[in-house]
Amino acid sequence: RGIIDSFSSILNEESKKDPIVSSSSTSSGSMNGIDGVPVTNERIAYKLKGYFDLAKEEIAKGVRAEEWGLHDDALLHYRNAQRIMNEASSTPSPSYISSSEKEKVRSYREKISNWQNQVSERLQALGKRTGVRVSENKRTVASPSSASVSSTASRYRKTSLQKTPVPRGGIATARNPKDAAASPKPVKESGNVYDDKLVEMINTTIVDKSPSVKWDDVAGLDGAKQALLEMVILPAKRRDLFTGLRRPARGLLLFGPPGNGKTMLAKAVASESQATFFNVSASSLTSKWVGEAEKLVKTLFQVAISRQPSVIFMDEIDSIMSTRSISENEASRRLKSEFLIQFDGVTSNPDDLVIVIGATNKPQELDDAVLRRLVKRIYVPLPDSNVRKLLFKTKLKCQPHSLSDDDIDKIVKETEGKLYRLIVPADIFRYSGSDLQALCEEAAMMPIRELGADILTVQANKVRPLRYDDFRKSMAVIRPSLSKSKWEELERWNSEFGSN
Ligand code: ATP
Ligand code: MG
Repeated sequence: RGIIDSFSSILNEESKKDPIVSSSSTSSGSMNGIDGVPVTNERIAYKLKGYFDLAKEEIAKGVRAEEWGLHDDALLHYRNAQRIMNEASSTPSPSYISSSEKEKVRSYREKISNWQNQVSERLQALGKRTGVRVSENKRTVASPSSASVSSTASRYRKTSLQKTPVPRGGIATARNPKDAAASPKPVKESGNVYDDKLVEMINTTIVDKSPSVKWDDVAGLDGAKQALLEMVILPAKRRDLFTGLRRPARGLLLFGPPGNGKTMLAKAVASESQATFFNVSASSLTSKWVGEAEKLVKTLFQVAISRQPSVIFMDEIDSIMSTRSISENEASRRLKSEFLIQFDGVTSNPDDLVIVIGATNKPQELDDAVLRRLVKRIYVPLPDSNVRKLLFKTKLKCQPHSLSDDDIDKIVKETEGKLYRLIVPADIFRYSGSDLQALCEEAAMMPIRELGADILTVQANKVRPLRYDDFRKSMAVIRPSLSKSKWEELERWNSEFGSN
């Protein structure tokens, strides 16, 4: 990131003090030809400027690609820049050249040669990164706040692209979760200090210690459960078994229509696995710590590494990691790049067990670079009849009722889906998991409502048990909320990008 900053600052400075542009007003009229095109002996400077501008464009693209972790694209642009600059430096100067012209040409040649060095340095580093990613990424992760140095002054002061290798370590080098939890001490590293407050915030508000959801509370979703078992729960328990080819994937995306258990599943993972669970919501990143989001992400990953095995859960990930757009503000762009850089850092180290789980109901809106890193993508579908049956049985366990299996089957059938002709064009609506939860809650209120004024005196065990009729009535109130068009769109996305 330091490199990217230095490159950007050079690019900015270059556009400010362009020798040709700034000196053109001082050149004498007789030196200029038609339309301001200078006479022959000035063309060399213009030619060099042309090469220089082209190279600058390619470098800017390369920097942006690198920022996004798109190493192949970055390589391509840097190579283009290199080619252009080679051509520039092999362009000979004419034998006659005025002294002022000579100065401009010299200045361009110097700049170009300087950039050539820096670009070949980047090319080398990128080459290494794609080959030996570990060491490169470690460095990126380790230079803690180089990216958050945002003051323009300090950015402009940087002139070298030299990356200082700093050993990884960060906030807590302790691998023992208890040590790290007890004293997350910031460590000074090359003048950078981890923000104590951020670490504390992460430890108190983002680390989810007691999620109330149990594995069995989640009805159905066997595919998703199996994937989570293999990726998170078992590897956290038996790290010795899950190495080499069995090394679990580090990025997982849970996607599907709203209200069908994505968040619930992640919470169940938190309570069932021995991993430290970091629950990061969009709001925690964007509202509470305005302007701090990028630093927070960096610190978050460092804490996750020190308290591993860890799971970083990002609910509604689409709202943080949506497709980049031109109108997007600088802060969110930096937040995304920081996330990508940190994520690459943890995935490249075979010893780290930090898994990122994202959940979304709008996977189409996710940024490509993020999507590429969430290699396992699990569809969490609407509950089918089996899941609905299981769900009703689970929900009814804690409530006295008189429903027979047949009654439950009837409800399962009746919650299949409804064609609403009143809506134009007519659409089929189906019950989501949360609709079914609401349906059960509404049904459970029926016996209470019948009590009327007796509600204040009645003994709890005298309230009549739930019956089939309560559910029928409840269905009149609680309507299915998911339209066919919505889930079909997600199913299409699943067949194209999903893992199941
Ligand atoms: P969103 O995309 O809107 O965030 P989500 O998929 O994260 O939705 P959850 O918050 O996990 O949905 O589920 C909402 C509620 O629906 C849960 O609290 C739970 O009561 C119920 N529910 C959904 N799916 C299931 C399920 N498979 N088993 C049991 N309860 C479920
Ligand atoms: Mg959710």
